[in-house]
Amino acid sequence: MTETEFRHENLVIVGSGPVGMVAGLCLKPYFRKITLLERQCKEDFLSKNGYSFPILFPPASEAVLKQAGVWDDLIVDNCEYTGLTVYKTIMGKEYQFKSDMEPALRSHWRSNLVRALHKVLDRTEGMDIVWECNLQDIDFDKNECHEEKSGVLPFDMLIGADGMYSRTRRMLAKAHDMYKEEQITLEHIRAWRAFNLPATDGIRKKYGEFKHSQHISFEFHKDNEEFHDIRIGHVMTYMDKPKPSFNVIVTCNEAMPFDLFKKLNKNFFSFSGMTDEEMDECMDNGISGKFEHVHTPTFTYKNVVLLGDSAHGFLSEGDALSVGIASVGSFYRKFAAASSVPEALKTYDEKTGTSLRLYSKWARDRANAEYRSELGLFAVGEKLGIVSKHPSMFGGIYSDTFDVDTCMHLYYADRKRLFRVINATGVAFAVLCAVIVWLAVS
Ligand SMILES: Cc1cc2nc3c(=O)[nH]c(=O)nc-3n(C[C@H](O)[C@H](O)[C@H](O)COP(=O)(O)OP(=O)(O)OC[C@H]3O[C@@H](n4cnc5c(N)ncnc54)[C@H](O)[C@@H]3O)c2cc1C
Repeated sequence: MTETEFRHENLVIVGSGPVGMVAGLCLKPYFRKITLLERQCKEDFLSKNGYSFPILFPPASEAVLKQAGVWDDLIVDNCEYTGLTVYKTIMGKEYQFKSDMEPALRSHWRSNLVRALHKVLDRTEGMDIVWECNLQDIDFDKNECHEEKSGVLPFDMLIGADGMYSRTRRMLAKAHDMYKEEQITLEHIRAWRAFNLPATDGIRKKYGEFKHSQHISFEFHKDNEEFHDIRIGHVMTYMDKPKPSFNVIVTCNEAMPFDLFKKLNKNFFSFSGMTDEEMDECMDNGISGKFEHVHTPTFTYKNVVLLGDSAHGFLSEGDALSVGIASVGSFYRKFAAASSVPEALKTYDEKTGTSLRLYSKWARDRANAEYRSELGLFAVGEKLGIVSKHPSMFGGIYSDTFDVDTCMHLYYADRKRLFRVINATGVAFAVLCAVIVWLAVS
């Protein structure tokens, strides 16, 4: 598309996180000018904007990163293929599920993704970032927003990509005539703590000789009575670069005091070959916070749309950002096919939005371990050809064919079918028993 063919003049994106930048780069051919508003200063943004945890790129998000033109810059440093193994305890028995994807997933540090995106954005004409911005107001009727330094910014479309605590979302909720602000909520799920452990022989022996980076997720073994009633989850990634180490996120319900949390970790990693002092140091240097979960009845209002964590952020099992990026791909396709901004937003919210709201609901249930018994039933159902793979077992986002629009609809349809079959089998069994008893007594 040449310059004279731009469909629109201005796109404003609030928040220059991964989702904001990916969206801007994908949509650049359609807008003469794109302005990203970023709250942080440039130095902090490029140096601190990362977590201690690597991000996985399943095929769906890899395709969008290629579309955004960032893939080649991204895979230069420290990006590796990873295998993915999920360890689960189902009905008291331990199972290992391995991804059979070939080639397997890639993973990268979030900060590398942010830097690579910024590099591409920096050399793209017509894209600017306003650092240390202060978004004051959005006028949804006049299609303009007010930013302290830039003054009035007119827009043909505005994307709110300002993360879990989105200010755009709050403004949208206030202006929306269809629902009240309380309908957009943040629900606390669990506390988490992330830390980095050197890859000692003890852990390697227990979980295999890792040749490449590997993402593994666990449920904790709780042999100790003290941990009774405490819900704990655990994601661990082995990273070969920059140095061999295990990056660990442990989640637990808020009630767990830090001393007990440390004890639990020591109990879990007791085979790691580290001294208590080394272990203490790793944990004390870790970062901690809370996972929260967003509920929004809609992601759009007039010419404004929410994307990424601001729309459907939730506890991650390694998929929050991947789903965010994949949803940008879905948005992009609808935008390219629609004849106007409102039409694109309406189609996106109805189709992708519904699917993402279901994904978000499912992710919350997953975080609360409410679907656990379902895994075993799905495994049997899959063998009998009744259902497809459970999204948690390399179905969903990790499959080659993942599509945001359909994934959750398929899962809920599968679930319904499976429980219908189970109920019917139960009824048939009960009838059979009744007949046998009747025959025996008569
Ligand atoms: C410990 C931890 C581990 C994680 N691990 C994984 C993982 O393994 N895999 C995975 O896929 N995801 C993971 N995530 C989640 C992932 O990091 C997020 O889903 C992702 O960063 C969301 O991208 P985003 O662009 O939507 O929002 P964000 O990354 O939150 O970016 C929002 C941007 O908007 C800016 N901003 C905020 N408010 C304003 C405002 N009012 N005005 C202007 N700018 C504003 C912020 O400074 C930020 O730059 C993890 C998260 C945490 C906390």
